[in-house]
Order: sequence, then structure tokens, then C-alpha cells
Amino acid sequence: MKPLGPIPPGFTNIEGELAVSGRKASALVAAGGSTPLFVYSEQLIRRRLSALRQAMPGRLSLNYAIKANPFAPILGLMDGLVDGFDIASGGELSLVQAAGINPARISFAGPGKRDFELELAISAGVTLNLESSGEADRVLGIAEQLGITPRLAIRVNPDFDLKGSGMKMGGGAKPFGVDADQVPDLARRIIQAGADWRGFHIFAGSQSLDSEAIVQSQAETLGLAARLAEATGHALPQCNLGGGLGIPYFPGDLPVDLILIGQRIADAFEKLPDVLKATRFCLEMGRYLVGEAGIYLTRIVDRKCSHGETFLVVDGGLHHQLAATGNFGTVIRRNYPVAIASRFDALVEEEASIVGCLCTPLDRIAEKGGFPRADIGDLVVVFCAGAYGASASPAQFLGHGPAVEMLV
Ligand SMILES: *Cc1c(COP(=O)(O)O)cnc(C)c1O
Repeated sequence: MKPLGPIPPGFTNIEGELAVSGRKASALVAAGGSTPLFVYSEQLIRRRLSALRQAMPGRLSLNYAIKANPFAPILGLMDGLVDGFDIASGGELSLVQAAGINPARISFAGPGKRDFELELAISAGVTLNLESSGEADRVLGIAEQLGITPRLAIRVNPDFDLKGSGMKMGGGAKPFGVDADQVPDLARRIIQAGADWRGFHIFAGSQSLDSEAIVQSQAETLGLAARLAEATGHALPQCNLGGGLGIPYFPGDLPVDLILIGQRIADAFEKLPDVLKATRFCLEMGRYLVGEAGIYLTRIVDRKCSHGETFLVVDGGLHHQLAATGNFGTVIRRNYPVAIASRFDALVEEEASIVGCLCTPLDRIAEKGGFPRADIGDLVVVFCAGAYGASASPAQFLGHGPAVEMLV
């Protein structure tokens, strides 16, 4: 048997079934209308934000990177819970605008921003995190034509990266941000051009469970911000320190130590150099805020045996859960936390592989896991489905279409 990932805290068992926010899996499916479906728990998202607020110094703002989960009701919920929103496309800009979020709280990073996206963002008053000096030229030109003072920050490609990070976003040659050594000149140039200077965005990596590495990378980020602000010769209004906090997906993964991370950031804030004394700092996070608060429910439609191996075939799959099947940036396929939701309190009785309904060998939700005996009609749950699920999977692949989503 291969181990399954750790089930996140906060889920309960009612009459033998998995329950979210006090509602049984079968009731959630009935409310959603059909399987497959994503269920996101408002209570778990609120809990995560309040744990963060308690652990982090009050001076630190918390931003939500909406690419993790842009579902409209989640944006509406986050409007009252976070300080800012990070977007990465004109499409995401429309989503946050539709959710009624104040553009002054939005910043837009991402390589390859097109002219029409820049125009929309400048017109809306969104802060643009510039990814290159070429992008700065285009932004300044468009802003002049529009007669609007653009709010500009520079995304810095740091000269270090976050160790233990699932996705490296800094250090060495990167498509993201401006190399640190070129930042002061560019900053001076856009300040001279009359832009509303917002500061730096320094994002060193994502999905790290190594608290010491996160602390280390944040200390390096503050050091780099101080050096660059000195060299620029202007006070730094804002500095986005990135995020990087990961969530446990796989067997043996442990959660980050939020208290330790908060303490070290508070310590660093006590000792800030003069050039950063008035700076407004923020962390930007996606999966840490919503990942563990979401589940994916799918129903078993077939049970079969091939060469001695039991397969449970479900009505969902990689078209909604690319990451859980190991096809979204993982090197070695390991099992996510997966369980039989309709027999949530039953003991392990057999080894089975749970596969999706797509006609490709890539569509494996759990490989040789230990489960209670499950049959056609039973519900399978994939945990850690709140981030990079519905919007990060190829819903149109093989014609199955998107899953239902609900916030409860
Ligand atoms: C993807 C991304 C995030 C969110 O990463 P998570 O691992 O979901 O927290 C934050 N900032 C930037 C710039 C990103 O590209």
C-alpha cells in the first residue's frame, strides 16, 4: 500500500460521513445538484485568516493572490478578510472588479501584460508591478495618453530563492521581475517620469514547508529591499515580501510554524533600517489561505479488477484536479489526502487505486491507497482542493466540462 497525504484539520464525521461546516457530504452533493463538485468552507478560511492575524505583527498586511482560487463567492468573502488582492491578468482584474473590490487594494504582477491589460489597470487605479524596463516604457506611454498618473511598483528578481520551495520564482535568470542590480536605475526613471511610486514586490518562491527557510528568505528580502531603496535614494512606500507558506499535501508533510514565522517577522520589524521605517509591508498568499479549506467530491461509477489490482473509477478526474493527479508541477507522483467520504469513519479494508474518468493513464487520483471497501455510488473526497483546483485544471479536456463549485 502507498501512503495517502494528511487530512487537513477541521473536517468532521456525521453519521459515518465526511462533513464540512456541519453538512454531510451527501447533503452537499444534493445541494450542489451533482458530482463532481468543489466545496469550500467559509469557516475554515476565516479560521486560517484569524490564525494569521494572531501570529503576524499588526503592521504586516495580508494579501490574497486570487489565482489560487478566483471563485466569485470566495473573492466576496476575502473582501472582508484580507487587506489587498494580487492579480495576474486582465481577466483576473475583471473578476475582482465584478466582486466590487476597491482598485486601490489591488496590485497586478505577471509577465507578458498586454497593452489593453495595462490600459485597464491604469484606468482602474490598480498598482502595476513592473516586470521589465520594456514594460515600464509601455506603461508610461499608455498612462501619458490616458492622462492618468500610474501607480507603479517594481517586481524584483531577487538574487536568492526560497529553499524547499515547490515553485522557484527568484534567483538567477528568470522571466519574473527585474534583476536586482537594474532596479535602482529603473525606479529613479519611473519616479522622474512622474509615476506614483509604490515600491517593491519581491517574491522568492511558493509552497515551502520549511519554516526556517521562509524566515531566512524574508530576512534576505528585507535586506535586499533596504539596499535597493538606499540605492534608489527614495523612501520606500510599500514592500510586498512575497509569501511562500506551503500546505501539507503529501505523506510526511508537516504544516509551517506560523508562530515562529510571525515572531521572526516582528523581530525584523523592530530592527528596520531608517530607509524602511515608514514602509508598509505585506505578505501575499494564495494556497495558504484557501487550499486546505476546499474539498473535491466525486462519485464512484465503476469498480473493477485488473491483474489483481482494484480500480475505483470516479466521475471526476484530472480535468478538475490536475494537481492531485501529480500533473501540476510535481516531479514524483505521490498521493494527496484522499478518502471515501461516504464511509469516512470505516476502517481500511483493501488496497485500491482511484482513477478519474478521462481516457488517459495520467488520470490517477490515488495510487494503491488503503480504503474501506467502496462500491458504485460511494463518494470519494480529495482534500487540499481549495487552491489550484477548478481554475488550474483543463476542464474542457475530453469534453467533461467544469465541476460545480460552492462556498458553504
Ligand atoms: C502564484 C503566486 C502567489 C501565490 O502563491 P501560493 O503558493 O498560492 O501562495 C503569490 N504571488 C505571486 C507573484 C504568484 O505568482
